[in-house]
Amino acid sequence: MTTNLYAAAVQQFDKAARYLDIDPGLAAYLRLPKRELTVNFPVEMDDGSVRVFTGYRVHHSAALGPTKGGLRYHPSVSLDDTRALAMWMTWKCAVLGIPYGGAKGGVVCAPHELSVRELENLTRRYATEISVLMNPQGDIPAPDVGTGEREMAWIMDTYSMHHGYSVPAVVTGKPLAIGGSLGRREATGRGVMLTTLEALKRKRITIKGARIAVQGFGKVGAPAAYLTQERGARIVAVSDAQGGVYHPGGLACRELVRHADQHGTVCGYPGAEPISNADLLQLECDVLMLCALENQITAANAPSVRARIIAEGANGPLTPEADEFLIKKGVFIIPDVLCNGGGVSVSYFEWVQGLQSFFWTEDEINERLRQIMVRGFHQVSRLAHKKRVDNRTASQILAIERVAAAMTQRGIYP
Ligand code: GLU
Repeated sequence: MTTNLYAAAVQQFDKAARYLDIDPGLAAYLRLPKRELTVNFPVEMDDGSVRVFTGYRVHHSAALGPTKGGLRYHPSVSLDDTRALAMWMTWKCAVLGIPYGGAKGGVVCAPHELSVRELENLTRRYATEISVLMNPQGDIPAPDVGTGEREMAWIMDTYSMHHGYSVPAVVTGKPLAIGGSLGRREATGRGVMLTTLEALKRKRITIKGARIAVQGFGKVGAPAAYLTQERGARIVAVSDAQGGVYHPGGLACRELVRHADQHGTVCGYPGAEPISNADLLQLECDVLMLCALENQITAANAPSVRARIIAEGANGPLTPEADEFLIKKGVFIIPDVLCNGGGVSVSYFEWVQGLQSFFWTEDEINERLRQIMVRGFHQVSRLAHKKRVDNRTASQILAIERVAAAMTQRGIYP
């Protein structure tokens, strides 16, 4: 059974909105995306044939500032998922106090099945198609699943070519050489680590030797794993799309990154036992970091989860049924809009640095990120305690309240 992400996002919104005294009209507006663009466009393939691709760019809300959010290249990209991910970006920025609205985009494609030239053609054409919405003051894309620095560089270049001068602030997550930010690469994982440390303190679990299992060992999971390990935790298992590795004494995560870079997977890492993804999710551990994709824990496997804390490095890794079950069971969940907000926080720093053409040191960036993540964590925890709600609902209440206040003070045009 696949869960519709947009239905899940609306369900979460409705649950949180019950605690707020917001105008029903504003609530109705916030349940919907502000605008959505579907683009169908041709790409010339290496064999000379022409293939049509479909892409989206959805803006959920621009009440707090320019819309911000990543671009996903994956065969499962759909308009409904993009709507949900855009809505979560609105809450993510609002809960962390970042002056952005929410957006998301994507192209239905299997990037690993395309050559570099085909990917470049696709990216440049998609960037051109969405440039009716994208610009450094209004809508700023970034990487997400299936995209990275290379794609952001192509987008920045395409947009700049159309304008006749370089516009670095039109995308974030760029390579350092063209105005990327120090610390952006690790930022999402660093945020997962920072919020996990706060959750461990909250649950009175000492970081030293805390057992952590990590699903997903890519852009988010790998830094989350090695940065948390460097604070004293034991990373007992990690997995990727091909399988996983387990070592009760703890895996050497930096070495594991080198192994994964060389072999394309964590599988086969010497000295560790193999473990399936399904078994990893059921390990008895202090923290389960979900850094892969959405809908990983469902009503079917939630009863076998034995973690005390769940850190949502991915967007929407729990279905609503799994969420409800795990909250009742007393699992401390660090919700996605808080847990994985480190990425967009450093994207914000990158954008600010690009607009000012003045760059900060990595220490400054990491320290500012720490402040944002810790403040967000405590604001959410305090509200959860005060309203006697779960962390996800608290994070949404906080975010919706901020967005609704901006809308009310701006007023309805005309
Ligand atoms: N795609 C990331 C997210 O879901 C980063 C977005 C950004 O940096 O704008 O938070």
